[in-house]
Amino acid sequence: MRGLATVPTYVVMQPTTLCNLDCAYCYLPFRAKDRRMPVRVAEAVAASVNPWARSGRFSVVWHGGEPLAAGREHLAALIAPFGPEVEHHVQTNATLIDDAWCRFFAEHRIRVSVSVDGPRERNEDRVTRAGRPAYDRIVRGVEALRRHGLPFSALAVVGRPEPGLARELYDYFLDLGPDVLGINIEEAEGVNTRSNRHDAAAVTAFWAELVAAWRRDPRIHLREVEWSLRYVAAVLDGSGDDLLPRRLDPIPTVGHDGSVTVLSPELAGFTDPRYGDFSSGNVLVTPLGEILADAERTPWVGEFLAGVESCRASCPYFGFCGGGHAANRYFELGRFDGTETEHCRNSKIRLLEGVLEHARDHRSPAA
Ligand code: SF4
Repeated sequence: MRGLATVPTYVVMQPTTLCNLDCAYCYLPFRAKDRRMPVRVAEAVAASVNPWARSGRFSVVWHGGEPLAAGREHLAALIAPFGPEVEHHVQTNATLIDDAWCRFFAEHRIRVSVSVDGPRERNEDRVTRAGRPAYDRIVRGVEALRRHGLPFSALAVVGRPEPGLARELYDYFLDLGPDVLGINIEEAEGVNTRSNRHDAAAVTAFWAELVAAWRRDPRIHLREVEWSLRYVAAVLDGSGDDLLPRRLDPIPTVGHDGSVTVLSPELAGFTDPRYGDFSSGNVLVTPLGEILADAERTPWVGEFLAGVESCRASCPYFGFCGGGHAANRYFELGRFDGTETEHCRNSKIRLLEGVLEHARDHRSPAA
């Protein structure tokens, strides 16, 4: 895997910077402001995306802020320029979901992913702008999805990964009913400067316990665990080095104003004296395809690709991880060409260690 692909598999779109919640760990700098994406930005993105979608699976992920805060009418106008082959996803805090939104999701064939951190007491960081717990509103939104028979994914942020928590979380999500679950260990990035340094053994034990919980009842696609097991199986059959794509997916994030930031949505909206505003161009000026064809020339991207090569040269976990995570490098190390971060320790190294710990603990006696 070397360099950036020029055609992504999905694009992240920011219909508004606004979020109606004010979660303690949020990285977004302008979440109190309603800066909306004009329709002409969506039209410009669709001009590049529609041909890509006709020749392979392609998704648009409506992210925020809180994308539903843009309102149904505006979101429909932003979706309209995209062809029928484009798959639409929305990442939402679920608090605004009601019957009308469910009908909207069904009509536009939008796949919903809900952010919820587990049972009520695990959602203390998820609060309204007035500082009140958002949990009941999140659950009401999920109940509406279920009432309408809409499948959904869930994304949980874990602030303190430790033994005992993984089983509780997994059991909670078995009840909640997503068909896919992603687990993010909280990251120190953007405006969230809380420490993400954790005891190594506790994080490894958290992941090992999650594998065990999932294996007992693998009804939910558990993103991190299934990917790890795929990697381990590939290593065992000698193809571990072939699992990563040949080039990194650029994952363009198109901000509300049309600016394009590759690799890390978390960098969008930030500026740095050395790197400027991190954007590689603006779709209102240059077609998205052209921006991506040139993205490696963005100064920070070149530095990041040098960091990926350092990872390849030095890290035994590279075949599993691929050395991604540009924003984590920047926000933790202050630059892009470093290697290990707390994020990759928590979410890559200790994840794989946890899978191996689980395998060691469950070895058959004959082995
Ligand atoms: S685990 Fe960390 S150091 Fe290793 S390849 Fe990934 S980012 Fe680089």
